[in-house]
Amino acid sequence: MKILISGGAGFLGSFLVESLIKEDHDITVVDDFSTVKYHALPEKVKLIKGKIESTDLNEKFDYVVHLAARPSPEDYIQHPVETAMSNSMGTYKMLEITRKSDGVMVYTSSSEVYGSAEIVPTPETYWGKVNPNGIRSCYDESKRFSEALIMSYYREYGLDVRIQRPFNVYGPRLREDGSYGRVVSRFIYQAIKGEDITIFGDGNQTRAFLYVDDWVNATLKMMFLKSLKGEVFNVGSNKEMKIIDLASMILEMSGSTSKIKFLPPRPDDPPRRAADISKAREKLGWEPKVSVEDGLKKTIEWFREQL
Ligand code: UDP
Repeated sequence: MKILISGGAGFLGSFLVESLIKEDHDITVVDDFSTVKYHALPEKVKLIKGKIESTDLNEKFDYVVHLAARPSPEDYIQHPVETAMSNSMGTYKMLEITRKSDGVMVYTSSSEVYGSAEIVPTPETYWGKVNPNGIRSCYDESKRFSEALIMSYYREYGLDVRIQRPFNVYGPRLREDGSYGRVVSRFIYQAIKGEDITIFGDGNQTRAFLYVDDWVNATLKMMFLKSLKGEVFNVGSNKEMKIIDLASMILEMSGSTSKIKFLPPRPDDPPRRAADISKAREKLGWEPKVSVEDGLKKTIEWFREQL
């Protein structure tokens, strides 16, 4: 199959590419490397280095997997225009390529579309509680717009589109540095280096973490299963945990003597987040297989090798 992957050099993309290339697919990646640190693109992959919002391709693809985005809150609030443009114009460009190809699009939306959800674990049918002009809106509202545009292409052109909403995916190659650092990789880095573990707020906010291999498996199913046209799936875990408990677990598993340091809370930080995965279980036959203990162990090992 001919497959175009936007953001294919990034954290999620690099694992998906590695898995697809084993099956001998013909893969093109478009990526601007804006958030990439640990990339691992196999040689056979064709690379177009550039912004997705200015990508016009005359080639046809059987599948377009649209991953490109700047998902780290501390990073995207520093680049709100670029974030909003890639999550709107970028999606438009990817949709046009899919339409001209009469292909299948899998879009990586986000659990952020739910905002500060009042129902947790959150099902796909929940509409979200999002501040339309808040500090996170450049990301969550533009992800919501992407979903709206994608469903418009489905309704107007009958395009085969499939939307996934990943919840806090982690694993090797997740950046730990600067404003790009997400919580798992940052805590692991701090624990290994003996630096203070930085908790925003009191640490009682929750997330449910999904290991990257589980995300790849869900994405492959979303690409290749038939009859998923116009469907939306949560791709996450329903095992909600407090950030303070994540910190303790990482400290213990890495044998670290780092101290915990409490910092002011992040603005508009969703207080709770976990996925209701009933629909993915039923229609994709998918559920997470890797426990947080096993996933963290693999991630800690990888970071030890890097640092
Ligand atoms: N967090 C934290 N310390 C950090 C980074 C993140 O306490 O150094 C918290 C953050 O406030 C949020 C959760 O961990 O509640 C997840 O943050 P992340 O940046 O990974 O992504 P989010 O789920 O907010 O998009």
